[in-house]
Amino acid sequence: MTGQLTIALTKGRILKETLPLLAAVGIEPLDDVDRSRKLVFATTHDDVRLVIIRGTDVPTYVRHGAADMGVVGKDILLEHGAEGLYEPLDLGIARCRLMTAGRVGWRSDGGRIRVATKFVNIARRHFARRGVHADVIKLYGAMELAPLMDLADLIVDIVDTGNTLRANGMEPLEEIAAISSRLVVNKAAMRSRHADIQRLVDQLATVVAVS
Ligand code: AMP
Repeated sequence: MTGQLTIALTKGRILKETLPLLAAVGIEPLDDVDRSRKLVFATTHDDVRLVIIRGTDVPTYVRHGAADMGVVGKDILLEHGAEGLYEPLDLGIARCRLMTAGRVGWRSDGGRIRVATKFVNIARRHFARRGVHADVIKLYGAMELAPLMDLADLIVDIVDTGNTLRANGMEPLEEIAAISSRLVVNKAAMRSRHADIQRLVDQLATVVAVS
């Protein structure tokens, strides 16, 4: 390789599913990522280092070239945009669905609705496409609380098993997008370090195809 490659990883659930894929192509952090308080990790591959950050920050690091590539949920890319990034590979991990959901039995009367979500851009686009007048209310967590407290009629949230919704008297309504984690690459790095990056993308694609 020609110099070090920096890969920005999304911490949490996505990280747990990303590490085995990287290990399969010979990239393993030298420290235990669960115990260490480090943010930058050297790896078993001399020319690759990892930074472990919040998902919403991954596209920013990669877009500005502070990281050459990254792993991030499609939900983040849909919400915050993927400008300046290539998205060469669907890693097929951390699969879930972005859905609208409401209290069990709730039905629209056809008028304006209030929608609580942290995915405000996705929600606005979704309801605009359907010609529904939606007042979108930004929340940072516990979206399922909003309809219970009559802050909103609907939410737009990530659904995996649906247990969180059911536990709060809610039901999933409409799927907006199927979500999984994506490999993203800085556009300039893709040109200047094409051979190194393409080799890694191809190796990961092979691992993903058999896992
Ligand atoms: P569940 O109860 O299984 O439907 O999971 C719902 C909650 O888990 C959501 O509100 C999300 O916060 C979180 N979640 C589930 N899957 C994912 C994922 N792949 N990526 C990020 N968050 C997720």
